[in-house]
Amino acid sequence: MDLTFSPEELAFRDELRAWLADNEPGAEPSGDDANFNWRRDWQRRLHAGGWAGVHWPVEYGGRDATLTQSAIFFEELGRAGAPLPANVLGLLLAGPTLMVHGTDEQRERLLPPILSAEEIWCQGFSEPEAGSDLAALRTRAVHDGDGWLVTGQKVWTSAAQHAKWCMLVARTDPDAPKHKGLSYFVLDMEQDEVQIRPLRQITGEAEFNELFLEGARIPDDRVVGGVGNGWKVAMTTLMNERSGLGFFLQVALRQRLDLLLAEAGRRGLLDDPLYADKLAALHVKTEIIRLTAYRGLSAIERYGEPGPEGSLIKWMWSETNQEVSQLAADVVGPEALTAGTRWSYELMRARGNSIEGGTTEILKNIVAERVLGLPKLR
Ligand SMILES: Cc1cc2nc3c(=O)[nH]c(=O)nc-3n(C[C@H](O)[C@H](O)[C@H](O)COP(=O)(O)OP(=O)(O)OC[C@H]3O[C@@H](n4cnc5c(N)ncnc54)[C@H](O)[C@@H]3O)c2cc1C
Repeated sequence: MDLTFSPEELAFRDELRAWLADNEPGAEPSGDDANFNWRRDWQRRLHAGGWAGVHWPVEYGGRDATLTQSAIFFEELGRAGAPLPANVLGLLLAGPTLMVHGTDEQRERLLPPILSAEEIWCQGFSEPEAGSDLAALRTRAVHDGDGWLVTGQKVWTSAAQHAKWCMLVARTDPDAPKHKGLSYFVLDMEQDEVQIRPLRQITGEAEFNELFLEGARIPDDRVVGGVGNGWKVAMTTLMNERSGLGFFLQVALRQRLDLLLAEAGRRGLLDDPLYADKLAALHVKTEIIRLTAYRGLSAIERYGEPGPEGSLIKWMWSETNQEVSQLAADVVGPEALTAGTRWSYELMRARGNSIEGGTTEILKNIVAERVLGLPKLR
């Protein structure tokens, strides 16, 4: 692993830094809708500047950035205190999945509005009885004329309230083995047969929703990757989720730790051996996560696809992020229990980190079996 940037990478970083210096995202507003609109506006500005999908090929409106340039992009975004673009699921998950498995018509119609944030995407995978065991999902799609009628329930669907399209996995052959009877669809959210009910979280915001599908219609040309190939297509989406978000997550963790260090400094706690010890340990963990993320990049460069290290990063990140917010509660005292404050939000939001994008138990299984080579449970 060589962490020295090439002249091209340095030029890419400097161009981006200059653009970010001229285009500050501004202060983060509170409130679900205001926050979403701020991130949507931010993505429009990135798009206008040619920075919305740096890792996308030029033919689809991206910059063909190398993996290292993509990593630089996320690091610089974090350095500038900028948020993730509003259409993050479209940019990191749906777009790359369509590039691999979509038809020419799907790519032409669906990719450009992802970049410009005109059409927001959500991910309809999880169901009440199918989360970690995704292949157990029960939402049914039945062929009818020139399309499909979908009936069932999805849950934890982030950003569904803003979305035009949903990456939906449904069962199209109930008689096939559970991984084989699935298909991957692009569902138009703008129809009466799709009901969205917000789920309010402990933080007070409603990032995600329940989705009730009662005969929702999907035309034949919105099946991605062919009928019965849903598991394979969904795996492409999930691989992109872990590898794409990994870099941003570690940068956001660094930002939070720096904030905590500043808070501790203001309170004169950096000389207190108890706090200094804990802060130093968190610094070391954060650096380990950063270097592991770079090691993952080298693996992709060498083998062409993300390895199971992505699971290790997600597991370490969620644990460390939770520890940062817990220590922040000790540092700032009662403020961490006062609704509406930064650290009370961080403390509560961090609880979900070890569930979202794969629970820690599932990630540990992956690391045990696929990184350490331990025997499989089943
Ligand atoms: C903030 C947030 C946003 C989300 N956004 C989305 C979204 O946009 N779209 C979407 O589709 N989903 C989304 N999810 C859902 C998320 O992917 C699931 O919650 C997650 O996969 C776990 O599934 P589950 O909740 O059904 O828990 P379950 O799978 O029922 O697990 C329950 C418990 O059992 C443990 N467990 C399960 N199986 C095993 C096993 N084999 N070995 C050991 N332990 C096991 C789990 O670790 C967990 O502790 C989101 C979740 C959160 C918290």
